[in-house]
Amino acid sequence: STAQPLLALRGLQVAYGGIRAVRGVDLTVGEGELVCLIGANGAGKSTTLRAICGLVPVAGGEVHYAGQAITGTASFELVRKGLVMVPEGRGIFGQLTIEENLAMGAYTRRDPAQIRRDTERVFSLFPRLAERRKQSAGTLSGGEQQMVAMGRAMIARPRLLLLDEPSMGLAPLMVEKVFEVVRTIASEGVTILLIEQNAKLALENSHRGYVMESGELILQGPAQQLLHDPKVREAYLGEI
Ligand code: ATP
Repeated sequence: STAQPLLALRGLQVAYGGIRAVRGVDLTVGEGELVCLIGANGAGKSTTLRAICGLVPVAGGEVHYAGQAITGTASFELVRKGLVMVPEGRGIFGQLTIEENLAMGAYTRRDPAQIRRDTERVFSLFPRLAERRKQSAGTLSGGEQQMVAMGRAMIARPRLLLLDEPSMGLAPLMVEKVFEVVRTIASEGVTILLIEQNAKLALENSHRGYVMESGELILQGPAQQLLHDPKVREAYLGEI
């Protein structure tokens, strides 16, 4: 396609002191695509996401979003532009109620009626949260906290959603539920870049994928193709 990608990384580099965590990454996500970035622990996936969001300094290369260079732009400004991240560990406020946490997602928005509608929509996607709306978020299970984090991101009305390991630490049924919602969000036209250690789950739910190893991309392609790639099967799907 000749359409300009919604997100493009060009030669992205990130270093922590002497450690080169991301070494020249070229990656694109087209409007409406669900793309995953998979790889082992410490491969540099989270660092890549954090660099896109302006949470770690970029040592080289560029980040383009919606036709603009956004390299180094602060994350609160990116939220205003529709680029929203759900961090690993979820970043929810444990002392606040579910409702209050969701309201934080709306801080860049103005129309209370629309915010109320979007909040009710989140409650209809996650009935468990609706029942517990006045409960403090710190008392929720890991899976419920993941739902709050995703709900809060949805209320920010993202155009591009960055998900950092949404399956992390969740029981299988919760993982199913969270991915069901990822598919729902994607089907509504939100563009998604998904980071996962669970390569099978990620590839089964994505259009395209990238494989990262030691700070570099080593493979990329349609998700179905990667699922059948012998190297991916051996190294990331635990098959021979
Ligand atoms: P995981 O799934 O374990 O989070 P990852 O692929 O997301 O893995 P990163 O968290 O991006 O990997 O880490 C990439 C490398 O950078 C690792 O070697 C890690 O130890 C290092 N690293 C990450 N954060 C920091 C930091 N704040 N300071 C120093 N080194 C860091």
